[in-house]
Amino acid sequence: MRNRSSATSAHVPAPETASGDAPPERDIAAFIAEVIAEAPAEPLEPPPDFLAAAAELGIAFEPGEVEKLGRFLALLLHANTRMNLTAIKDAPSAWQRHILDALTLMAPLAELPEGATVIDIGTGGGVPGIPLAIVRPDLRFTLLDATAKKTAFVRAAMDVLGVEHATVVTARAEAAGRDPNHRDTYDVAIARAVGPMATIAELATPFVKPGGVALLIKGERAADELADAKAALHLLLSAHAGTLDTPTGKIVILEKMRPTPKAYPRGNGEPKRKPLGVS
Ligand code: SAH
Repeated sequence: MRNRSSATSAHVPAPETASGDAPPERDIAAFIAEVIAEAPAEPLEPPPDFLAAAAELGIAFEPGEVEKLGRFLALLLHANTRMNLTAIKDAPSAWQRHILDALTLMAPLAELPEGATVIDIGTGGGVPGIPLAIVRPDLRFTLLDATAKKTAFVRAAMDVLGVEHATVVTARAEAAGRDPNHRDTYDVAIARAVGPMATIAELATPFVKPGGVALLIKGERAADELADAKAALHLLLSAHAGTLDTPTGKIVILEKMRPTPKAYPRGNGEPKRKPLGVS
C-alpha cells in the first residue's frame, strides 16, 4: 500500500504556524509532485570511501540499499533547490553529513527487535529517519515535523523509494507528545539538529515508553549541553545513560525512567523559548 503513510496523521492537531498562512494541503501536494517529477531519476553515486566508512560503523548493506540511499539524496538535493530543507548542497558532503551521520544510529539501534517503534522528531527533509528506514526495514518508523511542506516531501520521497513501513506525522512535537496515540508509546525517539539538549529532551522524551531511550545526534558540545540540561532531565524523569563517540560526532543516550509528568511538554514554542531548568 503506497499511501499508508498519509492515512495516519488525522488524529494529530494541525500544526500552528507563526503567520497562520500555511498553504492549503492540495497546493503543497501539487508543488511536491512537481518537485519529485523534476528530480533526476538516477541515484547519486557514493564517494569512493563510503563503503569503507559504513563498514567502520559495522554496516554491510543488502543489495539495492546503497542505490536507495543515493536516490534519496538525489531527491533531497533537488528538492532543496525549490524549498529550504538543508544547508548541505554538494553530493560528497551529503553522503557524509546526511547518510553516514544518520547511520551512526545503527549501532545503538542494533539490539531492537523486529517491529520495534522509532520516532524521528523534527525530521526536516527526512534525516535521520529515511536513511535508517532504508537499512532497517524490520523496524516501524514514524517521521514527525511541524512543517507540512517538509512532511509532504518526506512522504513523497518514501513512496518513490518504496519505504512502506513508515508513517509521517505533520504536527508540533508539543502537541503530538500530548496525544495518547503517541505519548509514552515508542521504543526509541531519535533527533538531529532540533535544539539544545533541554529543548530536545522535553520534545522527545514524552514519546518514549518508560524504559525506552532517546538517541540524540549531537556535536562536540554534547557534554556542555548535557551539563546545562541536568535540571531538565531530572524534571523529565530521564537520565543520561551514555554518550557514544562516532566518526561524525556524538550520540547522547537518554533513558526515560518513568512516564513523563503531565506538565510536559509545555505549550507550543515554550521548550525552545524557555528551556527547562534555565532561569
Ligand atoms: N532533522 C533534520 C532537520 C533539522 S532542522 C536534519 O537533521 O537535517 C529542524 C527541524 O525540526 C525543522 O524541519 C523544523 O520544522 C522541525 N521542528 C522544530 N521544532 C519542532 C517542533 N516543536 N515540533 C515539530 N517539528 C519541529
